[in-house]
Amino acid sequence: MQTNLVQQFANTAEGQEAESILRACVHCGFCTATCPTYQELNDERDGPRGRIYLMKMFLEGEEVTEKSREHLDRCLTCRSCETTCPSGVKYGRLVDISRGLMEQEMPRPPKERWIRWSLARVIPNRRLFGLLLRMGQVFRPVLPAKLRTKVPPRKHASPWPAASHERIVLALAGCVQPSATPNTNGAAARVLDRLGITMVEAPEAGCCGAVNHHLSEHEKALEAMRRNIDAWWPAIEAGAE
Ligand code: SF4
Ligand code: SF4
Repeated sequence: MQTNLVQQFANTAEGQEAESILRACVHCGFCTATCPTYQELNDERDGPRGRIYLMKMFLEGEEVTEKSREHLDRCLTCRSCETTCPSGVKYGRLVDISRGLMEQEMPRPPKERWIRWSLARVIPNRRLFGLLLRMGQVFRPVLPAKLRTKVPPRKHASPWPAASHERIVLALAGCVQPSATPNTNGAAARVLDRLGITMVEAPEAGCCGAVNHHLSEHEKALEAMRRNIDAWWPAIEAGAE
C-alpha cells in the first residue's frame, strides 16, 4: 500500500519501521478470516485490515477520533491475523508502535488515564492483586450478580511433587495466576514429574510484562522482562532449562 507519513513520524526509527510494515499490506483481507474480534463484531474497523487503515491514517496525520482508537483498543494483539497474511505483514509490531505513538500524541480523557494507570500498577503486583481478589472472594456472595461472575471462587493450591529429578525446568508464576488459578503450575509440575522432569519457579520473578506492554507502557514492560531474566539467571547457570 502506498504511504505518506507526516514528517514527525517519517524521520523516526519507529515511523520508518511502521511504514515498511504498512507498505507490505496489499489490502486482500485474508487476515479478517482469523481475527476473533472481526468474527465477533463483524465490523471492518474491528478487523486487522480496518485497523491497519486506522493506523495509516494516524501516521499520515489525519484526524483520528476516540471512536477510532476504540477499534484499536479492542484488538487483542493475539496476532492470529499474521498467520493468514500472504504478505508477511507484521501486524503485532505495527499495532505496538502505533498504540505507543498514539498515547504520546493523543492523551486520553483523565478517567481513562486513571483506569489504565491503576490497572498497570495493580495487576502486575502479585501481592496487591492477590489481596484484592481475596477481598472480592470474601464478599462474593453479597456482590451484584454481574460483578460476582467476574470474581472466581477461591481455590487452594494443590501440593507440588518433591524436587527429585536431575532435569529441571523453570516456570513463570506471573502476577495474576497464583491467586486466580493457583493450580495451573502445580498441575504442570505433576505432569512433568511423571516424565522425569522437576519444575521450579524463581520466587523473585513476577509479571511477564504483558500488562504494561499492552497498556503501551513499553519501558515498564521491558523492566519486568529484565527482572525476570535476572531472577532466572542463577538457575539457568546451574543447568535449568
Ligand atoms: S491481533 Fe488478533 S485481535 Fe488484533 S487484529 Fe490481529 S487477529 Fe484481530
Ligand atoms: S492479509 Fe496481510 S496483506 Fe492482506 S489485508 Fe491482511 S495484513 Fe494486509
